Amino acid sequence: MLEQSNLKESNKFKSSNEAKVFLGIDWGGTFIKAGVVDEEDRILKKLIYESKQLKDKRAFIKEIEVLAKELSAFKVQAVGIGAPGIINLKKGFIYYLPNIKGWRNYPLKDILEKKLKLPVFVDNDANVFALAEARCGAAKGKSRAIFLTLGTGLGGAVIFKGKILNDETSALELGHVPISLEKRKCGCGGFGCIETFTGNSYLLKRYNQLKKNGASAKEVKDIFNRALEGEKQALVVWKEFSSALGGFLAGMVNVFNPQAIIFGGGVSGAFKIFKPFVWKAIKNQAMWPQIKGLKLVKAKVKEAGVIGAALLAKEKIAFKTIEK
Ligand SMILES: [Zn+2]
Repeated sequence: MLEQSNLKESNKFKSSNEAKVFLGIDWGGTFIKAGVVDEEDRILKKLIYESKQLKDKRAFIKEIEVLAKELSAFKVQAVGIGAPGIINLKKGFIYYLPNIKGWRNYPLKDILEKKLKLPVFVDNDANVFALAEARCGAAKGKSRAIFLTLGTGLGGAVIFKGKILNDETSALELGHVPISLEKRKCGCGGFGCIETFTGNSYLLKRYNQLKKNGASAKEVKDIFNRALEGEKQALVVWKEFSSALGGFLAGMVNVFNPQAIIFGGGVSGAFKIFKPFVWKAIKNQAMWPQIKGLKLVKAKVKEAGVIGAALLAKEKIAFKTIEK
């Protein structure tokens, strides 16, 4: 475990450990974050792990078991998990995680429910992020919105008529829409997917290639900061990124006619730099009635992955109660 933080709210909470809480797990390519979230969608306690340390299934399950024991003082009602891949929503079964090797056809819900003796719900991480932004963030009250998580890969979700587009499976894999005939290999097994143009490792590779012998960048944040200072190579990276992402989004806008596109994930830290370029590419390529009233917005919910995973658990439990 890298970090453990008890946020301000937890002080208020000490006297009322009887309140109902949900455990939300945000499973990213770099970090896994777990948070105890109350019914008002506030994080009371947060833990962060390095994803590579929990790559192995046994290590992952064991750590969640240990965590659940440590949280025994809280009244955890259910666990929600946002996982980076294709999920059977009813069974909480992982079909496939394109950027994490070894997780294929795995009954995560069944295994965790037996170990934890708690209801467990699993969905795609981008759907979970969209849920948080739709309930308490940048897409609150919107009927149609597209959500992107820009980081190791590109996660995507769509809200249409106020509901997340999914059915038996988590459904949308926006990051794996091919946009190029270039044989650029993608983690999903295909090639030319949009995320091979927007993923953080590609951005770093491209920048360092442009810099040749100059000072290389270690993080995407460096390319952002250098672009802010007006550095030519850094701006080229963001322009190329925007041209690929904007072209892709023009297609999504033509299909879904969204009122907003919400940008989240680590790479969205550079929103200020890439927004005007992405906007220009969308305007140049999308059909004009489809972009009427469209807004490009940065995600608003802090720790949307954790909050969204907890919301998934909370809403599923509420739905079950109504069903009875
Ligand atoms: Zn792909």
